[in-house]
Amino acid sequence: MSFLEYAPAPESKAILNLRESYGLFIDGEFAGGGGTPFQTISPSDESVIATVSAADEADIDRAVAAARRAYDKVWSKMSGRDRGKYLFRIARLVQERARELAVAESLDNGKPIKESRDVDVPLVAAWFFYYAGWADKLDHAGLGANPRSLGVAGQVIPWNFPLLMLAWKIAPALAAGNTVVLKPAETTPLSALLFAEILQQADLPPGVVNIVTGAGAAGAALVRHPDVDKVAFTGSTGVGRDIAKAVAGTHKKVTLELGGKAANIVFDDAPLEQAVEGIVNGIFFNQGHVCCAGSRLLVQESIHDEVIDRLKSRLSTLRLGDPLDKNTDIGAINSAAQLDRIRELSAIGEQEGAERWSADCVIPDKGFWFAPTIFTGVEASHRIAREEVFGPVLSVLTFRTPAEAIAKANNTPYGLSAGIWTDKGSRILAVADKLRAGVIWANTFNRFDPSSPFGGYKESGYGREGGRHGLAAYLKPASRSLSEPKASRNAETKRSTAKGARA
Ligand code: NAP
Ligand code: MG
Repeated sequence: MSFLEYAPAPESKAILNLRESYGLFIDGEFAGGGGTPFQTISPSDESVIATVSAADEADIDRAVAAARRAYDKVWSKMSGRDRGKYLFRIARLVQERARELAVAESLDNGKPIKESRDVDVPLVAAWFFYYAGWADKLDHAGLGANPRSLGVAGQVIPWNFPLLMLAWKIAPALAAGNTVVLKPAETTPLSALLFAEILQQADLPPGVVNIVTGAGAAGAALVRHPDVDKVAFTGSTGVGRDIAKAVAGTHKKVTLELGGKAANIVFDDAPLEQAVEGIVNGIFFNQGHVCCAGSRLLVQESIHDEVIDRLKSRLSTLRLGDPLDKNTDIGAINSAAQLDRIRELSAIGEQEGAERWSADCVIPDKGFWFAPTIFTGVEASHRIAREEVFGPVLSVLTFRTPAEAIAKANNTPYGLSAGIWTDKGSRILAVADKLRAGVIWANTFNRFDPSSPFGGYKESGYGREGGRHGLAAYLKPASRSLSEPKASRNAETKRSTAKGARA
């Protein structure tokens, strides 16, 4: 097949004003950490972007102490209206610095600039705008009058949507009146550090948000810290389990957003051209580094061959390469370790008897890359049908009846998301009702909105992020204990006298 060549259209890095090294952001200031500093690299060419401090246990302790002071002295006393002003200000600064944030994200993560520019960063702003609006309306969050914040939130996030996961965590926490210590993933700390600069620009009171960079050990120390009241984690089911054990029996509230192995179900009456676009968006968006990715295609047997033909010819047009090129569809795999995992599971797929097909892309010499790949003839027992590959790899299974599609879709330890493609509205409703997944898309996939709750069943975790439900994870109903009745009831009126924010 031949198609028009595209001239390079790289987004300029000139907009970035990066430092050579970054400290931890604690109590409103950047300062070095006690751990061994590490380098964050660009996965598309393995070049070093910056040196980043690593937090040790003493740093985590300082960060939690700063968050506690800020909670006690400022943030828990401030009116919801004033907290909202800070959140609106952060949202506007994210919009003002959107291009810079998008370039930084693509550089550090490897995702195509058109995704960070058109999806990640606009959603980050949307999340802050949305929760800014909630800050003075917590009485309507569904928890009764005058719900109260929890205290200090310890938040640990992954590398696939570094800035968006930060927004999902920080925006509701602050709106609800909590303070935060957040640990970004080791391979993608950059956008969180730029976000810390935005917090300085926004004059957010010191200690309300602290960013502690480092590896898994820093995350482990944070979630175990006795003065953390709320733990919010997004990442692998293995680490999620470890965290659930660590906080069991403590006073900490927990939400876990873990892996997924979503079924994307295509019925024979679906509009096929749209469905093929949806399949591509479902699994090849963000190189498949998406917890809710449609990684299992369930296609009705009668249209299997046609769907696969169309899919292969569509995948042959995707452009893999420089994440900063505006024409790039498939960027770099985030790390060497993740690339190894994708390669290993794909090799196992072949060994187990599935048929492998990869798009014929030119793979750059440097960096971490994996061509878009589909496996046909996959059986429910294959590891590539059960385990999260977290890469641009689609497993295709077939079904004959809606009942079989539902049974196969639910045959997974996960339950984060699912997709349904059909022309019949009644079938969408009937099937969606029986799928055990937290988010179900119909005739679309991978759509996100701050007002819509997101979260899983089974091993995909518990708790919801987004929407009113996402606030509940950071609030408790007003205490009726005798020791503090008036203080809590009058808190909102008193708070308005505390230090306020300029709009
Ligand atoms: P991960 O190990 O669960 O990492 C997620 C976050 O937790 C990172 O910030 C990580 O730090 C930190 N962490 C690691 N060990 C920890 C511990 N014992 N206690 C507290 N925090 C800890 O996930 P990953 O290594 O990035 O990816 C592995 C697999 O997880 C992927 O293949 C995929 O299946 C799944 N995953 C799911 C999601 C999702 O959105 N649900 C996102 C990413 C990955 P470091 O980065 O510094 O290790
Ligand atoms: Mg990096």
